[in-house]
Amino acid sequence: MDSERILDLARRQFEFTRDARHHLHRHPELSFEEHETAAFVAARLVEMGYEPRTGLGRNGTALTATLEGGQPGPAIALRADMDALPVNEEGDLPFKSARAGVMHACGHDAHTAMLLGAARAFMEIRDEVPGRLVFLFQHAEESPPGGALELIEAGALDGIDAVFGIHQIPFLDAGQMEIGPGANTASSDRFTLTVHGKGGHAARPHTTVDAIHVSAHVVNALHHIVSRRVNPMLPAVLTIGTIQGGTRPNVIAPEVTIGGTVRTLDEQTWEAMPREIETVARGAAAMWGADITLSYTRGYPALINDDRMAEVARRAAMAIIGEENIGPNRPGMGGEDFAHYLRKVPGCFVRLGGGTPGTPTAGRGNPHSGQFTFDDAALTTGIAWYLSLVTGFKQHGG
Ligand code: MN
Repeated sequence: MDSERILDLARRQFEFTRDARHHLHRHPELSFEEHETAAFVAARLVEMGYEPRTGLGRNGTALTATLEGGQPGPAIALRADMDALPVNEEGDLPFKSARAGVMHACGHDAHTAMLLGAARAFMEIRDEVPGRLVFLFQHAEESPPGGALELIEAGALDGIDAVFGIHQIPFLDAGQMEIGPGANTASSDRFTLTVHGKGGHAARPHTTVDAIHVSAHVVNALHHIVSRRVNPMLPAVLTIGTIQGGTRPNVIAPEVTIGGTVRTLDEQTWEAMPREIETVARGAAAMWGADITLSYTRGYPALINDDRMAEVARRAAMAIIGEENIGPNRPGMGGEDFAHYLRKVPGCFVRLGGGTPGTPTAGRGNPHSGQFTFDDAALTTGIAWYLSLVTGFKQHGG
């Protein structure tokens, strides 16, 4: 299908998609609570002629829809996440969140609306669609263990050959994309480490094991893991976000609890980190006669784009926005549960610019903040990319 026709088809979905996005933005729902959102998406899909499979995930807030194309071809899954965040919207948009303290501050309203717009366009050209398309409207991306695993358990990837998804990025202009192979987001684990000492009188420290003093050594030692134990060519982050202990200035604390997060972009470092943390913390504590216990919780794995599928995704974008508007894959240390799909099926997660061209990048609101905004003009680009990806899949090397 030539790019003029793709762009025309995408542009014709604009009003529908924008209205859907504004509705979703006005009615945000938190992870695992996307009941109204799922009902809204299901209703739109039914209007288009789909028979969605609803009620998926632990609370029944995810759904999928399938389109059997009129041409032979692969089975491709396209995924949008639907959940919002516990953030208070600060702007003054006409479609501002109607729910205090809840906001689509990561653009998942746009992701959902774009996939609806694409589903609408694909239905229009159903006879020309190659293979089978499965639309994944996923719940709970923002809250580990996340919704992706539950959709996979529900069979959403059964028989699927390739999987793709879009995430907006405000620091890139609408009409631009970033696509490439390799790691795109990091694994994101959490840990709670407890230092066990022995309490007592502040004036008699020699009869105690001061957990506050020990925890200072533990924190210091933990911060050397990335610099001394991890391959410098492989990015990793260890952040300690909480530390709690002690009750009074003149009482030696028997126990301190340290909470942190670990981010990595490769499997080996990800595997090794719990052992490194335990060894280093235990050693630092032992120096002063204290012991530790570690509770380590795996979060999302690193998101690794498939080489070949990334090239298919890039060529699909080239056909609609031109090479000058496509940047390389830029990995970040945030987490994203699309990673789970990519551990099952090859595919690619792409970035779509959502910033308003001509506005200073530094002035754009951060995702997950109350100042976050998204330029609706990007919706057409997203839909056009989905159309180009699917209709040109073979021709682009898929
Ligand atoms: Mn997100």
